[in-house]
Amino acid sequence: MKKILVLTSVLFTIFVFSQERQESEKIIQEIQQVKQSNSSMKLVWWIPTEYWQIAMQKQDNITQAQVDYIKDAFDPYTIIVAGDFSLEQSFTGLEFKVNNIKNSFALLDEKSAKVPPLKESEIDEMVVRMINDILKPLFGQMLGKTGTGVEVFIYKNRNSTGQKLLDPTKKGELRTKVGADLFKWTLPLVSLMEEKTCSIDQIKFPGNYLYCPFHGNKL
Ligand SMILES: [Zn+2]
Repeated sequence: MKKILVLTSVLFTIFVFSQERQESEKIIQEIQQVKQSNSSMKLVWWIPTEYWQIAMQKQDNITQAQVDYIKDAFDPYTIIVAGDFSLEQSFTGLEFKVNNIKNSFALLDEKSAKVPPLKESEIDEMVVRMINDILKPLFGQMLGKTGTGVEVFIYKNRNSTGQKLLDPTKKGELRTKVGADLFKWTLPLVSLMEEKTCSIDQIKFPGNYLYCPFHGNKL
Protein backbone atom coordinates (compact mmCIF):
# COMPACT_ATOMS: atom_id res chain seq x y z
CA MET A 1 0.00 0.00 0.00
CA LYS A 2 2.84 2.36 0.83
CA LYS A 3 4.30 1.74 -2.60
CA ILE A 4 1.01 2.74 -4.21
CA LEU A 5 0.98 6.00 -2.24
CA VAL A 6 4.49 6.86 -3.34
CA LEU A 7 3.58 6.10 -6.94
CA THR A 8 0.46 8.25 -6.70
CA SER A 9 2.50 11.26 -5.70
CA VAL A 10 5.11 10.47 -8.32
CA LEU A 11 2.62 10.15 -11.16
CA PHE A 12 0.66 13.16 -9.98
CA THR A 13 3.79 15.31 -9.99
CA ILE A 14 4.58 14.16 -13.52
CA PHE A 15 1.26 15.21 -14.91
CA VAL A 16 1.07 18.49 -13.08
CA PHE A 17 4.55 19.65 -13.90
CA SER A 18 5.18 18.01 -17.23
CA GLN A 19 3.35 20.82 -19.00
CA GLU A 20 6.13 23.23 -18.09
CA ARG A 21 8.97 21.12 -19.36
CA GLN A 22 10.12 21.36 -22.89
CA GLU A 23 11.45 17.88 -23.48
CA SER A 24 8.35 16.13 -22.22
CA GLU A 25 6.23 18.60 -24.20
CA LYS A 26 7.91 17.45 -27.38
CA ILE A 27 7.20 13.80 -26.74
CA ILE A 28 3.63 14.55 -25.63
CA GLN A 29 2.98 16.37 -28.89
CA GLU A 30 4.10 13.24 -30.72
CA ILE A 31 2.35 10.57 -28.70
CA GLN A 32 -1.01 12.32 -28.37
CA GLN A 33 -3.22 12.55 -31.42
CA VAL A 34 -6.59 14.30 -31.54
CA LYS A 35 -9.07 14.40 -34.40
CA GLN A 36 -11.74 17.03 -34.07
CA SER A 37 -14.75 18.18 -36.02
CA ASN A 38 -17.51 20.62 -35.10
CA SER A 39 -19.40 17.95 -33.24
CA SER A 40 -16.89 15.31 -32.27
CA MET A 41 -13.48 14.73 -30.76
CA LYS A 42 -11.47 11.54 -30.79
CA LEU A 43 -8.23 11.20 -28.92
CA VAL A 44 -5.59 8.50 -28.84
CA TRP A 45 -2.63 8.78 -26.51
CA TRP A 46 0.09 6.15 -26.76
CA ILE A 47 2.23 6.07 -23.60
CA PRO A 48 5.54 4.33 -24.37
CA THR A 49 7.90 3.50 -21.50
CA GLU A 50 10.29 6.19 -22.75
CA TYR A 51 7.68 8.80 -21.83
CA TRP A 52 7.97 7.99 -18.13
CA GLN A 53 11.73 8.43 -18.15
CA ILE A 54 11.48 11.86 -19.81
CA ALA A 55 8.57 13.00 -17.65
CA MET A 56 10.24 11.98 -14.41
CA GLN A 57 13.97 12.47 -14.93
CA LYS A 58 14.21 16.10 -13.88
CA GLN A 59 12.01 15.86 -10.80
CA ASP A 60 13.96 16.47 -7.61
CA ASN A 61 11.51 14.52 -5.47
CA ILE A 62 11.71 11.35 -7.56
CA THR A 63 14.61 8.94 -7.28
CA GLN A 64 15.98 7.01 -10.25
CA ALA A 65 14.96 3.83 -8.41
CA GLN A 66 11.33 4.99 -8.50
CA VAL A 67 11.64 5.89 -12.17
CA ASP A 68 13.10 2.46 -12.92
CA TYR A 69 10.36 0.75 -10.95
CA ILE A 70 7.63 2.37 -13.03
CA LYS A 71 9.52 1.84 -16.30
CA ASP A 72 10.16 -1.84 -15.56
CA ALA A 73 6.53 -2.36 -14.58
CA PHE A 74 5.10 -0.79 -17.77
CA ASP A 75 7.80 -1.93 -20.20
CA PRO A 76 6.34 -5.34 -21.19
CA TYR A 77 3.13 -3.61 -22.32
CA THR A 78 1.86 -1.23 -24.96
CA ILE A 79 -0.43 1.20 -23.18
CA ILE A 80 -2.88 3.31 -25.13
CA VAL A 81 -5.43 5.76 -23.74
CA ALA A 82 -8.32 6.60 -26.03
CA GLY A 83 -11.55 8.57 -25.91
CA ASP A 84 -14.47 9.35 -28.21
CA PHE A 85 -16.63 12.37 -27.46
CA SER A 86 -19.38 14.27 -29.21
CA LEU A 87 -21.42 17.41 -28.88
CA GLU A 88 -25.10 16.86 -29.35
CA GLN A 89 -28.00 19.25 -29.55
CA SER A 90 -30.38 18.83 -26.64
CA PHE A 91 -33.19 20.79 -24.95
CA THR A 92 -30.77 22.85 -22.95
CA GLY A 93 -28.25 23.46 -25.71
CA LEU A 94 -25.17 21.55 -26.72
CA GLU A 95 -24.47 18.52 -24.60
CA PHE A 96 -21.06 16.92 -24.18
CA LYS A 97 -21.39 13.19 -24.61
CA VAL A 98 -18.90 10.39 -23.92
CA ASN A 99 -19.24 7.63 -26.51
CA ASN A 100 -18.43 4.05 -25.65
CA ILE A 101 -15.03 3.35 -27.15
CA LYS A 102 -14.48 -0.20 -25.91
CA ASN A 103 -15.59 -1.81 -29.17
CA SER A 104 -14.80 0.98 -31.61
CA PHE A 105 -11.10 1.16 -30.68
CA ALA A 106 -8.61 -1.14 -32.37
CA LEU A 107 -4.86 -1.59 -32.42
CA LEU A 108 -3.95 -2.89 -35.89
CA ASP A 109 -1.21 -5.36 -36.75
CA GLU A 110 0.82 -5.22 -39.99
CA LYS A 111 -1.99 -7.03 -41.83
CA SER A 112 -4.52 -4.49 -40.47
CA ALA A 113 -6.14 -7.13 -38.27
CA LYS A 114 -7.37 -6.10 -34.83
CA VAL A 115 -4.95 -7.03 -32.04
CA PRO A 116 -6.84 -8.24 -28.96
CA PRO A 117 -6.04 -6.30 -25.76
CA LEU A 118 -4.84 -8.27 -22.75
CA LYS A 119 -7.37 -9.40 -20.18
CA GLU A 120 -6.86 -8.03 -16.68
CA SER A 121 -5.81 -11.53 -15.52
CA GLU A 122 -2.97 -11.50 -18.07
CA ILE A 123 -1.47 -8.25 -16.77
CA ASP A 124 0.85 -7.81 -13.80
CA GLU A 125 -1.25 -6.98 -10.74
CA MET A 126 0.76 -3.87 -9.84
CA VAL A 127 0.32 -2.49 -13.36
CA VAL A 128 -3.44 -3.04 -13.17
CA ARG A 129 -3.53 -1.22 -9.84
CA MET A 130 -1.40 1.67 -11.05
CA ILE A 131 -3.69 2.14 -14.02
CA ASN A 132 -7.02 1.70 -12.25
CA ASP A 133 -6.18 3.42 -8.95
CA ILE A 134 -3.83 6.15 -10.13
CA LEU A 135 -3.84 6.86 -13.86
CA LYS A 136 -7.59 6.72 -14.50
CA PRO A 137 -8.54 8.96 -11.54
CA LEU A 138 -5.77 11.38 -12.55
CA PHE A 139 -7.22 11.75 -16.03
CA GLY A 140 -10.54 12.58 -14.42
CA GLN A 141 -9.02 15.21 -12.15
CA MET A 142 -7.05 16.83 -14.92
CA LEU A 143 -9.42 16.68 -17.83
CA GLY A 144 -12.85 16.53 -16.17
CA LYS A 145 -15.51 14.76 -18.17
CA THR A 146 -13.09 14.11 -21.03
CA GLY A 147 -10.71 12.44 -18.60
CA THR A 148 -13.29 10.23 -16.94
CA GLY A 149 -14.50 9.16 -20.39
CA VAL A 150 -11.21 7.71 -21.61
CA GLU A 151 -10.42 4.01 -21.69
CA VAL A 152 -7.00 2.46 -21.16
CA PHE A 153 -6.10 -0.38 -23.54
CA ILE A 154 -3.21 -2.66 -22.66
CA TYR A 155 -1.43 -4.96 -25.11
CA LYS A 156 1.49 -7.33 -24.93
CA ASN A 157 4.69 -5.69 -26.16
CA ARG A 158 6.96 -8.73 -26.38
CA ASN A 159 7.18 -11.44 -28.99
CA SER A 160 7.93 -15.08 -28.16
CA THR A 161 11.68 -14.40 -28.04
CA GLY A 162 11.32 -11.41 -25.71
CA GLN A 163 11.86 -8.70 -28.36
CA LYS A 164 9.74 -5.55 -28.24
CA LEU A 165 6.91 -5.63 -30.77
CA LEU A 166 6.74 -1.84 -30.79
CA ASP A 167 9.89 0.20 -30.11
CA PRO A 168 9.56 3.99 -30.39
CA THR A 169 13.31 4.36 -30.99
CA LYS A 170 13.37 2.03 -34.00
CA LYS A 171 11.86 2.08 -37.48
CA GLY A 172 8.28 0.95 -37.48
CA GLU A 173 4.68 1.94 -37.42
CA LEU A 174 1.83 2.05 -34.94
CA ARG A 175 -1.68 2.15 -36.32
CA THR A 176 -4.89 2.38 -34.32
CA LYS A 177 -8.48 3.08 -35.24
CA VAL A 178 -11.39 4.73 -33.48
CA GLY A 179 -14.39 3.76 -35.56
CA ALA A 180 -13.38 4.62 -39.13
CA ASP A 181 -10.69 7.15 -38.12
CA LEU A 182 -7.09 6.02 -38.45
CA PHE A 183 -4.46 7.23 -35.97
CA LYS A 184 -0.98 6.44 -37.25
CA TRP A 185 2.53 6.92 -35.85
CA THR A 186 5.65 6.56 -37.95
CA LEU A 187 8.60 5.49 -35.86
CA PRO A 188 11.11 6.30 -34.52
CA LEU A 189 9.61 9.19 -32.58
CA VAL A 190 11.53 12.33 -33.55
CA SER A 191 11.56 13.52 -29.92
CA LEU A 192 13.58 10.43 -28.99
CA MET A 193 16.16 10.92 -31.75
CA GLU A 194 19.35 12.81 -31.06
CA GLU A 195 19.21 16.40 -32.36
CA LYS A 196 21.46 17.30 -35.28
CA THR A 197 23.72 20.36 -35.41
CA CYS A 198 24.59 22.42 -38.49
CA SER A 199 28.38 22.57 -38.79
CA ILE A 200 28.23 26.12 -40.22
CA ASP A 201 26.34 27.98 -37.48
CA GLN A 202 25.80 25.27 -34.83
CA ILE A 203 21.99 25.62 -35.02
CA LYS A 204 20.20 22.51 -33.82
CA PHE A 205 17.59 20.61 -35.83
CA PRO A 206 15.29 17.67 -35.09
CA GLY A 207 16.93 14.26 -35.45
CA ASN A 208 15.04 13.34 -38.63
CA TYR A 209 16.48 16.28 -40.65
CA LEU A 210 18.95 15.13 -43.31
CA TYR A 211 20.09 18.56 -44.53
CA CYS A 212 20.28 22.04 -43.02
CA PRO A 213 17.33 23.96 -44.54
CA PHE A 214 19.37 27.22 -44.53
CA HIS A 215 22.76 26.10 -45.81
CA GLY A 216 21.92 22.88 -47.63
CA ASN A 217 24.79 20.96 -46.04
CA LYS A 218 24.35 17.42 -44.79
CA LEU A 219 23.58 17.20 -41.09
ZN1 LIG B 1 22.97 25.39 -41.46
